[in-house]
Amino acid sequence: MAFTVAEVKPREEFDRVKWLDPMPTACPACGCRSPVPVAVLRSLRATCPGCGASLTAAGQSMLAEEARIDRQMELILVAIDLKEHAGLVLTENEVDAARSLEDLARAVAGQLPSTTDREARATELVAAAARRAAPRLLG
Ligand SMILES: [Zn+2]
Repeated sequence: MAFTVAEVKPREEFDRVKWLDPMPTACPACGCRSPVPVAVLRSLRATCPGCGASLTAAGQSMLAEEARIDRQMELILVAIDLKEHAGLVLTENEVDAARSLEDLARAVAGQLPSTTDREARATELVAAAARRAAPRLLG
């Protein structure tokens, strides 16, 4: 199925991952599962209410997941821009599978006419889209 703009939710809905709060969190030390407020987990200062062991790892994986989803959202914005400005329609699978601008550029290259400079052209198109839609991805 082709990727379309209509399938993308408004940006605000992606701004923060909605975690269950408090989050049932397993303690790596004693194995007990306790509800821990998300804000405490995200602060990386959470400790197990049962044994006092650090729950920092749980907070770190939460932050990593948020960063991953954020990045995916930015890549979707770049894909939308490519469609709007360059008329390039990537499939949903291509966008979902992309983890970086380089991945998007590879997908774009596959759609360009087979010329010797198509990889370079795809990289330029993706970089231009990223500048407009998701400059944070350019670092
Ligand atoms: Zn514990």
